[in-house]
Amino acid sequence: MRSLALALFLAGVAFLPVATARARGDSAWHLIPIGAREYVPIEDFCRFYGMSLAEPVAGEIHLSGEVGTVDGKHGSPYVLIDGVRHALSFPLLEKDGRWYVSRTDLCCLFDPVLRPWRVPARLWFRGVVIDPGHGGEDKGARSRNGRYEKDYALDTARRLGRILRAMGIPVVFTRTSDVFVPLEERVRIAATHPDYVFVSLHYNQSEPSGHGVETYCLAPRGAPSSNNGTWVRRVDYSPLPGNDNDLLNTLLAHDIHVELVRLRPEDPDMDRGLRRARFVVLRDNPLPGVLVEGGFLSDPTDSSAIDRPEYRQRQAEAVARGLGRFFQTTHVHAAAPRALPADWSAEGQ
Ligand SMILES: [Zn+2]
Repeated sequence: MRSLALALFLAGVAFLPVATARARGDSAWHLIPIGAREYVPIEDFCRFYGMSLAEPVAGEIHLSGEVGTVDGKHGSPYVLIDGVRHALSFPLLEKDGRWYVSRTDLCCLFDPVLRPWRVPARLWFRGVVIDPGHGGEDKGARSRNGRYEKDYALDTARRLGRILRAMGIPVVFTRTSDVFVPLEERVRIAATHPDYVFVSLHYNQSEPSGHGVETYCLAPRGAPSSNNGTWVRRVDYSPLPGNDNDLLNTLLAHDIHVELVRLRPEDPDMDRGLRRARFVVLRDNPLPGVLVEGGFLSDPTDSSAIDRPEYRQRQAEAVARGLGRFFQTTHVHAAAPRALPADWSAEGQ
């Protein structure tokens, strides 16, 4: 066991909880090496965030406090934060009757979600680069009724653009028609708008079909993609341009995902989680970015919902609400964007 503050000083890593704990004279953070990684005891976590730990039951852990609730299971790749599914970079561990959270997840998941007001924003973000997935000969997923992801994504993107403009948020599109745009070109467009954030809109497919919504942001350096299990490849340790925004990426994805999973509260499987990946448009992107998979075109329930303009409108509104919250949180010294018009649901259908 060694001092977390010392370890972070040596690693040159910005680490918000430690800075605050030291300012309070609270030096109770500890780093515990377990296997190849570093973990923090859950008692330190609870003390810092003012959470209490319920008696663990059969490999489960429940934390609650004013900042929210956390529910986890030993070895699970996900936790519920305020009831919403979030992928961990590394599972929570239970060892000799004590629980541990990885340092990566403390920094890059829990802190931005539980203390969003502490996420450092180097810029005043004021606009959105909207990226409708696929286009042209790249049709994307095919729905059960023969329509294509590229068309649904463009329609939802146009709706999102109209809503954001009505909120006073400027937008730029990576495509506005059915054309093929290389991934590198989408990133290049993003890079010309340094005070914007990036939202890529997609719909999913799988065999056998999944069901529900996934919101991706870039995996932190040294952490696996959510789609690779816990397997970390050597290349995953490479620093990527998008990793400069790890905390903002998490906050943006969280704000949007929370809104999307609320669209069908009666559906317990709607929430497939805030997830991590290294998609090109997130990996090489200098802007804080997310990629939304708004449901499975291969699934009968999702596919029939996505086929309805009214549902795509509600999805666009949900993404806009998430963006609005992100801008409000990061605009602490600036005028917040206008609220979404109450009667917006009738527009553009
Ligand atoms: Zn896609």
